[in-house]
Amino acid sequence: MVGVNVLDKRVGALVEIVGAAHVLTDPHDTAPYLTEWRNLYHGTTPAVVRPGSVDEISQILKWASANGHPIIPQGGNTGLVGAQVPDESGNEIILSLNRLNNIRDIDAQGGTIVAEAGVILQDIQTAAADAGMLFPLSLGAQGTCRIGGNISTNAGGVGVLAYGNTRDLVLGLEVVLPTGEIWNGLKRLRKDNTGYDLKNLFIGAEGTLGIVTAAVLKLYPAPAGRAVAFAGLADPAAALALLSTARKAAGPSLTGFELLPRISIDFVLRHVPGNRDPLAEPHPWYVLLEISSPRSEADAAEMMEQTLSNGFEAGNVADAAIASSLAQIDAMWKIRHDISEAQRPEGGSIKHDISVPVARVPEFMDRAIAAVTAAIPGCRPVGFGHLGDGNIHFNISQPPGMDKEEFLAMWSGMNSLVHDIVAQMDGSVSAEHGIGRLKRDLLKTVKSDIELDLMRRIKSAFDPAGILSPGRVL
Ligand code: FAD
Repeated sequence: MVGVNVLDKRVGALVEIVGAAHVLTDPHDTAPYLTEWRNLYHGTTPAVVRPGSVDEISQILKWASANGHPIIPQGGNTGLVGAQVPDESGNEIILSLNRLNNIRDIDAQGGTIVAEAGVILQDIQTAAADAGMLFPLSLGAQGTCRIGGNISTNAGGVGVLAYGNTRDLVLGLEVVLPTGEIWNGLKRLRKDNTGYDLKNLFIGAEGTLGIVTAAVLKLYPAPAGRAVAFAGLADPAAALALLSTARKAAGPSLTGFELLPRISIDFVLRHVPGNRDPLAEPHPWYVLLEISSPRSEADAAEMMEQTLSNGFEAGNVADAAIASSLAQIDAMWKIRHDISEAQRPEGGSIKHDISVPVARVPEFMDRAIAAVTAAIPGCRPVGFGHLGDGNIHFNISQPPGMDKEEFLAMWSGMNSLVHDIVAQMDGSVSAEHGIGRLKRDLLKTVKSDIELDLMRRIKSAFDPAGILSPGRVL
């Protein structure tokens, strides 16, 4: 229990740096920062501090390092591994980046945008589009998550197939180190082989090595045409075959390839308004695919038609619908983006974010579905996601009527079942969401001693006082 005087002193020091208006202590004001999207973690904090400049962040971290006060950076609070919310000790101060929300520069010719950490991802996409360009990072939380959070989790999303993870979209970073030192690495270079690539250490570090305050991001020319389609199929093996067909027809123009089981469509139709069944008849599995052309709408449509007709001919596609307007494109993608939200009203959901070699996704699906349904009869596997990246969100909804807490108590047993299959297939137990607190103990089982030791040495070199996001990742 922290004494009242100590607490007052901390708040006083923060107020001196950022002003009273930007230090939140009232439980009503701090509540939204203390719990997260999945409602798995609930914490307490002496204060949420909302600095308005890089210099203020530097002063806060200098003070925290000197006095041993733990700091947890938070952006949009959409992270899925519990790293951005404080623990229950009552000691961890939340540093919100949300006031650092300027786009400092946009250069269409050079293909770069310089954004501060607190800019909402969707605002970066819009700014890029207004300049006739594309910022291809795209995920369900894009209206809420912030670019500093995307960088710190190395977010993936639906554009990875063509454009890579967030790591592939970052040219330079500005970071405040736990000691308060500021590193200005806001370079716009596409090539720079001058020693260790420091920026890559901060990308995906989940706020453990420094606070990202701004980034230089890559922009791409906006496609001249987009074709989006829903295809109904028998199984993931047919989807994998369609992926090869689409790659042959579209090459690098294949910009999205998402696998969805029928149950995910049922959940979306049942729980999220504004959606309709994509095809006339139900199918066991679906693929949502997008092809983008640098030339024209007609070119994108032609590549899509070629893909689907080859898919029909090979017997892999049972039915398909191609969007014929921007509204229909958005409606198709809305189904995919609404899956996360639609699982909630179905009760408890045990989550996995795995990757395996792309060609082995059908085998993974078969084995994982068989294993979990044998362990909990009546449970409902909802395995969906980025087939083109070999990344499946293999979630399991509880059997209808089962007590939610009783089901969720089986979380770690189900994780072991699924992760054992992943290990046998040389896969990853965290393809895009990170480690945070949720998978910290799991990290020890998937990294070698030398890897863990190197990670600890890097952590202590950057954060000798151990004040930044302690207990996350390591
Ligand atoms: P937060 O949740 O606030 O923080 C996440 C982590 O980053 C924490 O460790 C935090 O301490 C740290 N952090 C935040 N800002 C900074 C900073 N400026 N400097 C240093 N550390 C910082 N992820 C995917 O990869 N692909 C998906 O398709 C995807 N879909 C999602 C869909 C939904 C509906 C939701 C809720 C989440 C989804 N996610 C997905 C999870 C994803 O990690 C986040 O949405 C996003 O990248 C996190 O951004 P944020 O601003 O919300 O970060």
